[in-house]
Amino acid sequence: MTAAEILTKLSPGETLGEYALRLEEDAGGERAAVLRRLSGMLEVMETEVESALRLPVYSISGLTGGDGCRYEQYRAAGRSLLGEIPALAAAYALSASETNAAMGKIVACPTAGSCGILPACLLAVGRVKKLPRETIVLALAAAGLIGELIDEHASLSGAEGGCQAECGSAAAMAAGAVVQMLGGGPETAFHAAAMAIKNQLGLVCDPVAGLVEIPCVKRNVGGTAIALSSADLALAGVESRIPFDDAVEAMDRVGKALPAALRETAGGGLATTKAGLAMKEKVYGEK
Ligand code: SF4
Repeated sequence: MTAAEILTKLSPGETLGEYALRLEEDAGGERAAVLRRLSGMLEVMETEVESALRLPVYSISGLTGGDGCRYEQYRAAGRSLLGEIPALAAAYALSASETNAAMGKIVACPTAGSCGILPACLLAVGRVKKLPRETIVLALAAAGLIGELIDEHASLSGAEGGCQAECGSAAAMAAGAVVQMLGGGPETAFHAAAMAIKNQLGLVCDPVAGLVEIPCVKRNVGGTAIALSSADLALAGVESRIPFDDAVEAMDRVGKALPAALRETAGGGLATTKAGLAMKEKVYGEK
C-alpha cells in the first residue's frame, strides 16, 4: 500500500484516521475495540508528557534527566522564544523522553527512542486548541497509518535506517496527525508528513554509550519543531514537491547507504566524540 493508493481509495470526506479504522474493520477488528486500545495509549501518553515536568527524573546511568523540569520552569515563566504550542510540545517531548530514559512507562511511537515527538505534538495542539479527546484518538489512528506506510517501504528502526527512521518517522506521523486534528485533508496530511521526512533525511543514529539518552532526548524536541512547522506549512497550502511515497523511498535508500557505525552501534557520530567517549567511560569504566 502507498499513500498515492490510499488517496484513491478514500470515501468523500474520509480522514486518514477513519480510513485506518476501516482497514482494521476489514481485517476483522472491531471499531470500538480499536478505539479503546488507542484511547488506552493516549492515557499513557497523557501521563508521560507530564511526569518529568514538576519533579526532575534521572536515568539510571545519570547521563540525562532534569531538563524537562528546567525547561518547564522557563516556559511557564513566559520566557520561551517559541510560541505557545511549540514551547509546550518541547516540554512534553523532554518529559516523555526523560521518562523513557529512566525506564518509565511510555508508548513507543514508533520506537522508545523517538517516543516524545508524537504525544508532545498531539497533546500540545489538543490542549492549546481545546480539541475533544476523540479528535486526538483519531489522530493517533492517522499517525499509525503513516507509520505503517514507512515501515512497509523503509524502516522504523535506528539500527536499520539511522535516526531518520525513528525521529524522522515520528515527526512524519505527528505532522500528518496534527494536520488531521486541525481539519486538513488526507492529501494535506501526506504533504506535511513528506516535509517532516525531508527535514530529517540522513539523520544518523549515534547514541552515546549505546544508551537511548544522548542525543535522543533532545532530538525528540527537534522532532516536534519539524513536525509542527511541517504541519503548519501544509495547512497554509504549501505542498511538498517530493511526494510522501518518494520521500519514504529516499529514506529507505539513504538508510541502507548509512555505514554500520551510524546505525545504533555507538561506533560513530556523537558517540565517538571526545565528550561521548568520556561519558561512556564514566558509565562502563571503558573507552
Ligand atoms: S539516536 Fe538512535 S537510539 Fe537515539 S532516538 Fe535516534 S535512532 Fe533512536
